Formats: sequence, structure tokens, C-alpha cells
Amino acid sequence: MNSNPLSNLVEEHKEELLSLLTKLVSFQTESPPARNTLPAQKFIADYLKDLGADVDMWEIYHNDFNVVGTKKGSNSNEYRSLILNGHIDVAAIEDKELWDTPPFEATINNNSIFGRGVADMKGGLAACLFCLSLLKKEGFELKGDVILQSVIGEEVGEAGTKECINRGYSGDFAIVADTSECQIQGQGGVITGWVTIESPTTHHDGTRSKMIHAGGGLFAANAIEKMTKMINGLQDLERHWAVTKSYPGFLPGSNTINPAVIEGGIHPAFTPNQCALWITVHFYPNESYESVTQEIEEHLMAVASSDPWLRKNPPAFRWGGNSMIEDRGEIFPALEVSPNWQGVQLLQETHKQVFNKDVNVSMSPSVTDGGWLSEANIKTVIYGPGKLEQAHSLNEELSIDELFDYCKSLIQFIYQWCNLPKEEI
Ligand SMILES: [Zn+2]
Repeated sequence: MNSNPLSNLVEEHKEELLSLLTKLVSFQTESPPARNTLPAQKFIADYLKDLGADVDMWEIYHNDFNVVGTKKGSNSNEYRSLILNGHIDVAAIEDKELWDTPPFEATINNNSIFGRGVADMKGGLAACLFCLSLLKKEGFELKGDVILQSVIGEEVGEAGTKECINRGYSGDFAIVADTSECQIQGQGGVITGWVTIESPTTHHDGTRSKMIHAGGGLFAANAIEKMTKMINGLQDLERHWAVTKSYPGFLPGSNTINPAVIEGGIHPAFTPNQCALWITVHFYPNESYESVTQEIEEHLMAVASSDPWLRKNPPAFRWGGNSMIEDRGEIFPALEVSPNWQGVQLLQETHKQVFNKDVNVSMSPSVTDGGWLSEANIKTVIYGPGKLEQAHSLNEELSIDELFDYCKSLIQFIYQWCNLPKEEI
């Protein structure tokens, strides 16, 4: 199909890539429960050291370390840098016995490789490492830096990538090699939040008639019943958003507000004095989590102001969080991608050379850590092998041809991008 030297190299070293992916799959990095990625991250750190990268490894949670390997270019100051980002954690396995093959032993069958994480996203991560290794071993000089980030916690909103940014890592362009079927993608954002209604007083169930009936005289409320007003209010706002907001690449009404978890009440002998609702909010790439949460708060406060009790006891809000495990909250900022960026245009070129097809910028229906890179003003795209329906699935699989083609496009991109002078950006 194409016979440029870098594609030929990928062809010649296919077995190395498959054995690297097999190795990554063998680390049981399920999240939840998480706190189990250290052996895998040590392996990646060693792999990067062998390539001559400066390796930075630091603890985010017990047994969960981020790894960043910086492969210095020969003329870093004047040539473009590139971030390659991937998460080492994989989705939890619910029904191990239903798998046809052991999930942590990669198995090849009919041009597919099976195992937990092959599509999301150890295939993408293996490809990034493999491309850097080939370039180094075969003596292809890169003038700009490559920064490989192997992060933890993505599956449970722990934003290992955000920690990389907080630590000062930046670049002229970033590729998140997460599941995108080799499409160049942006994403909408997600934020979770808690809406809580709390009564200052607690009442026995026997007083209910006094708080709800004429002449009862007890100014009090059932927090669960009051929460239904909040839920109805959220549905009104969700519908208003669906009608009034849109973004190219998304089906109308993709900007949803899901009442996902509800907790409240003490015991049937009491009137519930507290009710908390956990919601998941999806927003468009041109919105921020700050702006949508403000809209929700304003709307629910307006709903509350129409109710005499809620007016006195308004709902409280807690938005986002650093971990679904630790503080029951997460944020994935949105990722807007422009077809005018040189990085996107170059990636379109290298993609077309390999796949013989145009690739346009589309929108992922899911979310990745790309949002954090974008939030830090780094031009970022999602571009990785694997189908989204395979991510988190039983018998997770990845097409081997797709993986090789992905590598051929990626290695060409790395080589060209990092040898372009910065001033042309
Ligand atoms: Zn992923």
C-alpha cells in the first residue's frame, strides 16, 4: 500500500509491538478498585529509560504512580514538542467467567487481539511506546521533545493527566491515544455533582400529617419529596438545553443531565431530613464546566424560590471531584479541536497516506483526559486505535491490522512534527 521507510519498519517489527501489548495487558490494572498500577508503571518507566528518556515517576495515590518520560530532542528550543498521552488503568471486569479467553492474557485470533484494555487503551499506549522505540533504535533523529505520559485513574475520573499539567508538563501539540477507531476527535465535557436538600430539624413519621395538612401548623418538609422538585427542574433545564444548544458532530440533546444516584432518609419511623442527588452533566465543547454548573445552580435556585420551604432551606451544591473512588466526583473538561491547527492537518496527511482515506475531525461520544490538556491551552486531539463499543466490554478486542496502520500513521506524524521548527506554528 505504501512503502515509506517508517511504515516498512513497523511491518518488520510487528511481533515486538504485539509482545509489548501482551505485556501491558498482563498487568492487572483494573479501576476500580485501582491502587494496582505500580508494576505496570515501573515497566513503562524502564522501557522509557531504555530509550534514553528522562523519567519522572510520582505517586498520586498509594500504588498508583504517574510516569512521564521526556525524550529530549536534539534541538528542543527551536523544534516542536509533542505530548503522547495514555492511561494505564483499564475498566473493571464484571464477569470474568463469561470471557472466552483469560482477560489478562492477550490472545490472538483471526487478526484480532483479545484482552482487557486492548482497545481502551493499552493498544494505543503500546503503539506510542513502540513508535518511540523504533525511532530511537533505527536512528531517526527527532529535533523536538517527545513527552510520553502514562497516567493513572482515567477510568474513575482521577485525572492523572491533570496532575501532569500541575507538574508543569506542556507541549506544542498533544495526542491522546485513547479509543477513537483512528478518527481525529474532540469531545464534550462531563461533570458530576451533588444536589443536597437538608432540613434543619428532624421529625418523627407520626408528625407527617401536621406538616402536610391544613391546620397542622408544622413548618417542615420531607427532603425526598422536595428533591422531586429539583429532579423536575433538572428535566426542564435539560429539555431547554436540548432545544436551544447544539454543536456540530453531536446529536441534538446530547447535553444531558442524568439523575444518577439518590440517597436520603433515615428509617421509616422518620421523615427524611436529608436527600442527596448525584447527577452527571454532559456539555458541549464550546462550554465549560463552570458555566454549565452555574446555569444549573441558577435554575434550581429559581425552582427553590417558588416553594416556601425550599426558599428557606435552599439546595446545596458540590461540583466535580478528584476521584469517583475517593470523593465521589469527577470532571472531564471538553476538548475543542480545530481543523486549522497544523497538528491536525499533518495528522490528516499521515493518516491518509496509510489508510488511503480522508479523516475529518469528529466528536467522541465519550470523554478522555484530552479535556485536561485542552484546558491547559495545549492543542490536543484524541487519536487512537480501537472501537468504542469494545472499550469496557466482554471479550474486548482490537483489530491487529488497525493497530499496525495506526502505528504507521503515528510514527510518521511523530517524526515529521518533531522535526518542524517552532516558529512555523
Ligand atoms: Zn480510555
